[in-house]
Amino acid sequence: MDCLFCKIIAGEIPSKKVFENDKVYAFEDISPMAKDHYLFVSKTHTKNVNETPTELISDIYFGIKEFTQDKNLESSGFRVVTNVNQHGGQTIFHTHFHVLGGEQLKGFGS
Ligand code: AMP
Ligand code: ZN
Repeated sequence: MDCLFCKIIAGEIPSKKVFENDKVYAFEDISPMAKDHYLFVSKTHTKNVNETPTELISDIYFGIKEFTQDKNLESSGFRVVTNVNQHGGQTIFHTHFHVLGGEQLKGFGS
């Protein structure tokens, strides 16, 4: 399958890995929108969050929770975003969650 994130997970395209378990892979976003910007993806290819079984979504979120607790992002705070299709701004059609933090984030009322 011609999917950039599948190639990253397979190690065919380099990435800066920050977390991995048997179901989830996470790496630094190549074009960060915040001081810390990571992408959490399922190792199983699905197109977007609406097309993903809830069990897989919870696997991804388990990774996010473990990582943000380990990296002390939880106390300062962080944001999780997932984009769906065109109006959502999705450009890579392999389900992923953006994890943003490391500084005061703007938007959503702040
Ligand atoms: P989205 O627009 O929600 O589909 O998010 C796709 C994200 O993938 C963007 O934030 C891009 O900066 C990021 N991205 C694209 N190519 C790479 C890459 N090779 N390595 C890391 N992040 C990437
Ligand atoms: Zn994929």
